[in-house]
Amino acid sequence: MSDILTKYETSINGLTASEVQKRQTKYGLNHIEEKKPTPLIILFLSQFADILIALLIIAAIASFAIGDIIDAGVILLAVLLNVIMGFIQEYRSMRAVESLKGLITKTAIVKRDNEINEINAEELTIGDIVILEEGLKVPADLELIETKRLSCDESNLTGESEAVKKEANDTLYMDSNILSGNAVGVVKAIGMQTEIGKIAGIVQEEDEETPLAKRVGRLGKILSAIAIVVCIAIFILELLKGIPIVETFMTAVSLAVAAIPEGLPAVLTLTLALGMNEMAKSKAIVKRLLSVETLGSCTVICSDKTGTLTENKMTVVESFYTNEDKTHLIGKLCNNAVISHNEIIGDQTDGAILRYCKGHDCDLERVDEIPLDSNRKMMTTIHRLDNGNNIVLSKGAPEIILDKCKYIDDDGNIEMLEAETKEMILEKVGEMSGHELRVIGFAYKIRDESEDETDLTFTGLLGLMDPPKKDAKKAVSDCINAGIDVVMITGDHEKTACAIARELGILTNGKIITGAELEELSEEEYLKIAKDIQVYARVKPAQKMRIVEALKKLDNIVAMTGDGVNDAPALKKASIGVAMGDGTDVAKEASDMILQNNDFTTIVKAVEGGRKIYDNIKRFVKYQVSTNVGAILTIVGTSLLNLPLPFNPAQLLWLNIVMDGPPAQMLGIEGAERDIMQRPPETGDILTKNTLLQILFLGLVMAIGTIAVFSWKIYGGADTKNAMTVAFTLFVVYQLLNAFNGRANSEKSSKFLYLGIIISFLLQLLILYIPQLQIIFRTTPIGIMDWIVIALVASTILIAQKIMDKVMK
Ligand code: ADP
Ligand code: MG
Repeated sequence: MSDILTKYETSINGLTASEVQKRQTKYGLNHIEEKKPTPLIILFLSQFADILIALLIIAAIASFAIGDIIDAGVILLAVLLNVIMGFIQEYRSMRAVESLKGLITKTAIVKRDNEINEINAEELTIGDIVILEEGLKVPADLELIETKRLSCDESNLTGESEAVKKEANDTLYMDSNILSGNAVGVVKAIGMQTEIGKIAGIVQEEDEETPLAKRVGRLGKILSAIAIVVCIAIFILELLKGIPIVETFMTAVSLAVAAIPEGLPAVLTLTLALGMNEMAKSKAIVKRLLSVETLGSCTVICSDKTGTLTENKMTVVESFYTNEDKTHLIGKLCNNAVISHNEIIGDQTDGAILRYCKGHDCDLERVDEIPLDSNRKMMTTIHRLDNGNNIVLSKGAPEIILDKCKYIDDDGNIEMLEAETKEMILEKVGEMSGHELRVIGFAYKIRDESEDETDLTFTGLLGLMDPPKKDAKKAVSDCINAGIDVVMITGDHEKTACAIARELGILTNGKIITGAELEELSEEEYLKIAKDIQVYARVKPAQKMRIVEALKKLDNIVAMTGDGVNDAPALKKASIGVAMGDGTDVAKEASDMILQNNDFTTIVKAVEGGRKIYDNIKRFVKYQVSTNVGAILTIVGTSLLNLPLPFNPAQLLWLNIVMDGPPAQMLGIEGAERDIMQRPPETGDILTKNTLLQILFLGLVMAIGTIAVFSWKIYGGADTKNAMTVAFTLFVVYQLLNAFNGRANSEKSSKFLYLGIIISFLLQLLILYIPQLQIIFRTTPIGIMDWIVIALVASTILIAQKIMDKVMK
């Protein structure tokens, strides 16, 4: 050990503050450079790499070539606006996602100046003494100087997920996870010099597309294909009618722009990313865009009890002794908590016991420990007595402790533990547990030849109160109203779990099962009853996996909480793995969402946030796609009816920019529907048959109205320019009312949406009445009669929506 310390010029007390500074200046921070963010200029230029933009630019060049400067200018302006809008959206998404990364900081426990502290892992430097325990992520490459039952998972580096045992002098690699045991190591390499740093550039994962983005993308492709066929057909038809090729080409390209929902994926990503930020404000850090989507459709929340539904602030409130002094002695010594400034540092159960147990400041040297483990549900420490003998002290779940007891200490008289006495004690345990108490049993023995945790002598019980969180009951009832099942999973006693679950409203049907009973069930038997079980008690972490799997098999979207190393597989398997802010690094890494405040209520808030985002995405997808469909149908219709085209290229581009702009953006930030948590979860597709039918119907109404008014104008003798202006304005007003249709029935007013609609309408008035703009857009002023017709016809879209709401309910 000392040669390792000398090698890194450090000592067992750690580096001094000044040395740390010196080394940090010399070696830099312990920081792995992620893939460099795309430079803004590249992000901007990449917006041009789009087939539609390319076509528009060709169209602009073509019109310039034939001397049509105005049209060329209009098209270039449209290109610029499209590019800027795309750029802003992408930039905002990027920033939103980046800002979240800062919230997930890595920490490390170091010893410096002979003092142990938790620091930001970035501040580690060569020669730092790092202390590692179960569940931590290794913060740098370390050379180990001391280990105890250390095993770790190096799959981040090697890809092999088998546990690896490590001993002193071995190297522990950055980003490995400590599965069990503990260790002390000296920092050997930091940042990009670590093994993982050296390959960081290679293994950076690509951002994956969310299923929603994929589905929307697919819809976009289908629409694009249709639009392209239509555009080509129109192009050929118009050519045959003898209209000059450049003009025809421009029309076809503009139509394609108006009919293809090219902006959708970007708006979608932006909406999800902004949603992530909003959730982070309410202490739920969602790690991937994908999970924002999944949250909204969650159907079951499986929650831990301690610390999530309850305060995790324990107090001993009941006791039962056969030997009080011995019980308190065990409570003090078989304990890993420290009380400093009246605060518990370490395990809360331990802390409460430490606070409660009186006197007995006998400081027996601890020689060994069999740590607390959520599978065994007990812990044992071994101490050296003054006479040289060793004493074994155990505490844990009372029935487990009792099973290991052979004797009972009756105020100093050691007697055999008779079956009746055991029965009586267990009854006492049941009684205490029924009062919502976590009961801990205590036992000891003078160390002998037998295994450490056998033939123990029982001394007493302590009952700890851990009150339910104040808002938990309300959050549970919110879930039930929202059609989400709440399941409590705990390592605690059946009766304790039962009492608390009843109080919180989780246990309503009396269906509670213990880990042991679950073990006995065959897969079939379990699947039959799984959907009714509301409480799992005395569960082992590994069983959480089985619970998730069963619930998923029953078509649930499962959110599952966890904090320990053993919870990681279930967190990964769950649709939404939820780690506690206080949990281990391993659990956090395996999860999709981290609750900074460890609170069940936060999960429910996140689900609500997810539902809101889902609704808003549905709003603007429906809105934009129906605009696209409407535009295609209108053009196809007029073409089939052998009418002139109702919109010119500038107008089509205007439609695309103005309509995809303010109203669509504002639909994405509407407030939550009033009934958002009073309706069952919606699983799966946003683009259900129902929604697609609605889109088609809305598009059809717009197309029929526009064609009808256009032909009425044409056959009524109006000049084409005027007829086109009226048809174009009608189509715009249709869009605006359609956006209005999409508003939320929310507590929050839709003022931004209304503002967006009004702005778009004012812009439309500008291009109708300002002479310079009339030249550009080839519009004419519209008279009052035409406005009345437009208002009347456009309002059919409101009626259409009302009818659909009735029919589709
Ligand atoms: P939960 O699922 O509620 O978090 P835990 O896994 O923390 O439950 O605890 C499960 C059981 O382990 C408890 O009911 C208790 O019997 C035992 N236990 C918990 N903490 C300790 C401790 N510090 N010492 C001894 N036994 C403990
Ligand atoms: Mg726990």
